[in-house]
Amino acid sequence: MNKPAQSVDAHSVMFITPRPEVVMVEGKGSWLTDNNGKRYLDFLQGWAVNCLGHSNPGMIEALNAQAKKLINPSPAFYNEPMIRLSNLLTDNSCFNKVFFANSGAEANEGAIKLARKWGQLNKSGAFEIITFDHSFHGRTLATMSASGKPGWDTMFAPQVPGFPKADLNDLDSVKKLVTDKTVAVMLEPVQGEGGVIPVTKEFMQSLRKFTKENNILLIVDEVQAGCGRTGKLFAYQHYGIEPDIMTLGKGIGGGVPLAALMATDAVACFVPGDQGGTYNGNPLMTAVGISVIEQLLAPGFLDAVRAKGELLSNELLSISVEFNLNGERGEGLLRALMLSSDIGGKLVELARDRGPEGLLINSPRPNLLRFMPALNVSDDEIRQMCNILRELLKQVV
Ligand SMILES: *Cc1c(COP(=O)(O)O)cnc(C)c1O
Repeated sequence: MNKPAQSVDAHSVMFITPRPEVVMVEGKGSWLTDNNGKRYLDFLQGWAVNCLGHSNPGMIEALNAQAKKLINPSPAFYNEPMIRLSNLLTDNSCFNKVFFANSGAEANEGAIKLARKWGQLNKSGAFEIITFDHSFHGRTLATMSASGKPGWDTMFAPQVPGFPKADLNDLDSVKKLVTDKTVAVMLEPVQGEGGVIPVTKEFMQSLRKFTKENNILLIVDEVQAGCGRTGKLFAYQHYGIEPDIMTLGKGIGGGVPLAALMATDAVACFVPGDQGGTYNGNPLMTAVGISVIEQLLAPGFLDAVRAKGELLSNELLSISVEFNLNGERGEGLLRALMLSSDIGGKLVELARDRGPEGLLINSPRPNLLRFMPALNVSDDEIRQMCNILRELLKQVV
């Protein structure tokens, strides 16, 4: 006999989003378990955060070992994991300097400040940063202003000024916005919240050429697309270009709050007093970051991500054909299935609530589904997910 579902009394939790009447209690790999013992195949993974799945042994070991040794000496001192992770990130990218933050939004705030500082020093106070329609850069006031999410311009008015919006993959729309006040262009290599829209190679390369020729910085927000998600360590590496500034979040901590602002030597112009924060670069989180990045860099790991991305892509394409949908898109293991109508929200609920095992997926726009599984998801789990999708689509389409 089934036990009656436990009721959830969460009245003291501030209401910021509707949540189902369950409490998540345990995770392992690609599976999450709630307080009623129901299991879910997790293709959300903390919103593209748990790149190594739930309760990754290497991360747990790093967290435990560091907790026993030193949790926080204050940001006024160096600590060992901070230095090791900085070196790991700069050794494997085109950047020379790293500032650690606690969230993607905070890393992007840092990028915006760094670009404005660089504009004060090098471009007569130029401060405007061109961003893109449907982009997402975070939920602080400046990063909401930088974001191109419809409705966000008036939500907490007035906005932070200086973020004109261009159209993705359209260089002319960027050129039209350039003035002597322009200091940078900021973009996600794959727009995640916007609906998994990859930047084209042609656009990224011509944008890099144009910004270089016009003394404008190029900032890539790799909070979602970075750290192996697209099948390379960093998404900009698909394009054969070198940005001036990059931000990381989500995957870099594998589930713990860690983010990073990275810059080339030419651009890293902060001086003492410009940037900081109580928890920034704390050894507990950076120790976990080392474990994450080392696992991503292990021989064959990123090749496997690309292979699994291809498997997921092929499976989604055949589903699209079977159900007369509008195809799929994405890069690596950040992918979307384009639906034929606005049934995304309905599918997300059906998937979660089905029995005996649920499926966790997301619908950033009503006419598409987004998939962001653990990067070490198994081929079987990918096929299992797709078979559940087929079952649901049969009900709904
Ligand atoms: C999630 C996300 C952010 C914000 O990160 P938080 O850690 O939630 O502040 C910024 N940029 C992109 C591209 C993201 O996907």
